[in-house]
Amino acid sequence: MEYISTRGDETKFTGAQAIIQGLAPDKGLFVPTEIPKIDYDFSGADGAAGADGSRAGADAGKTGVPYRDVAYRVMSAFLDDFTDEELRRCIDGAYDDKFDSPEISPVVKTERANFIELYHGRTAAFKDMALSILPHLLTTSVRKENENRRIVILTATSGDTGKAALEGFADVEGTEIFVFYPKDGVSEIQERQMVTQGGANTHVYAIEGNFDDAQNAVKAIMGDRDYKAALSDGGYRLSSANSINIGRLVPQVAYYYFAYVRLVERGEIASGDDIIIVVPTGNFGNILAAWYAREAGLPVGRLVCASNENRVLTDLIGTGVYDANREFILTSSPSMDILISSNLERLLWHLSGGDSDEIAGYMRSLESERRYEVSARVREGIRDFMWGGSAVMERSHSEIGELWAREGYLMDTHTSVAYRVYLDYLEKTGDDTPAVIASTASAYKFARRVAGAIGLGAESDGFAYIDALNAATGIPVPAGLRGLRDKEIRHRGVVTAGEMADAIRADLARSRGRAESSSVG
Ligand SMILES: *Cc1c(COP(=O)(O)O)cnc(C)c1O
Repeated sequence: MEYISTRGDETKFTGAQAIIQGLAPDKGLFVPTEIPKIDYDFSGADGAAGADGSRAGADAGKTGVPYRDVAYRVMSAFLDDFTDEELRRCIDGAYDDKFDSPEISPVVKTERANFIELYHGRTAAFKDMALSILPHLLTTSVRKENENRRIVILTATSGDTGKAALEGFADVEGTEIFVFYPKDGVSEIQERQMVTQGGANTHVYAIEGNFDDAQNAVKAIMGDRDYKAALSDGGYRLSSANSINIGRLVPQVAYYYFAYVRLVERGEIASGDDIIIVVPTGNFGNILAAWYAREAGLPVGRLVCASNENRVLTDLIGTGVYDANREFILTSSPSMDILISSNLERLLWHLSGGDSDEIAGYMRSLESERRYEVSARVREGIRDFMWGGSAVMERSHSEIGELWAREGYLMDTHTSVAYRVYLDYLEKTGDDTPAVIASTASAYKFARRVAGAIGLGAESDGFAYIDALNAATGIPVPAGLRGLRDKEIRHRGVVTAGEMADAIRADLARSRGRAESSSVG
């Protein structure tokens, strides 16, 4: 397997090299030159998983193929420069009892759709699925490549990536982790999770701007040769924990295979039957992973791309025009409040037949005019397998209330966007192929909105809503969210996007001073 840039630099990299770099030297994203075929039939594999601890009673007590085995088969196909032992060690180190379900990502059946719950990791959002393993992949890659500089990981976050990256990288040898989040663009609980983060190598800043400002600044810093050279002289090398890093995407392909395997094991589908995958989308990483799964041979009919009020992608799918010239709307699904969806660049590259001139042209146009129009080929390519829809807050919130009242199943504010869009898809197309909805966060992360949606009264702050939701539903509060209110706040920095580069340099100088004085005394 080889990885190259979407924008024309023809240097080929191994998986390990692409993971260390994060972004390609010409600011393109790394893509696999070829997508491997991966068998979805696990019937010959040993099933040794523990009993399903989730509410999906159907297979309680039965065993199934363990998550780790599925992850191994999928990831080894994409990262064939890792030895079996290296990859096994990464997988075993990531998918363990940090997750509060032995299934890692339980698949739960409701009347109309199956939900794959991707939020059972430490930070209660789906970002843990990839960010619990990225530090292992990165440190393994650093060893493989004999890289001896410290790796400085830059992360822009719309709320969930930041905390998951911090948890993953806190006190990991040889790394410094920086997280930048939009000051008024994350939930109270998301913010508190980040600013209370422990670890000597963690750095967290609020920025005065939105997620796109933070992400653009991170990309600009990573593409700045002079800045990188200066850091390199100091013994540092930049990388990223955003889904621009291929080390984020590859682990995400695995759970779509896992969902399929579970549905076959339960007799919901026969092996070889199609499923539909529905994804609440922001930066386009999660749904791109579903597309890679489809290209790798997983029987997936449609991919349904669900957006909130920031419906750039819905419009792209409908019109072939990507237009970010619109108001940035803060919604109750902040992790989807994004107007520049980075990973779309990868899909466009694949659908254009690897035409990097075409892609570089789109991206130049996006930078100068905040819009571009895709070719007829790409537009048809997208429509061939993707259906796009959006749901405004009132519509998605009422589904939270409805599903809770009818079936006792609780969705968060992101998952409910996907659910509402899926119902629209059903109504408009009549396509009743079994659906898997990516359930991306615990309802407790967005407790205020969810409490409102199921009809609970007002509380004093976000933390009181967690207690109220717990009292009303009886659903256990994820360990990472318990006691959050009383944790010490350790990070208070606020910067503009333009000040990020200097903040990084200053913090690194301080870390070095600390390291040197501790090694002296
Ligand atoms: C990040 C996130 C999304 C969006 O995923 P992308 O990969 O950025 O499209 C949706 N829901 C939640 C809860 C998230 O944290």
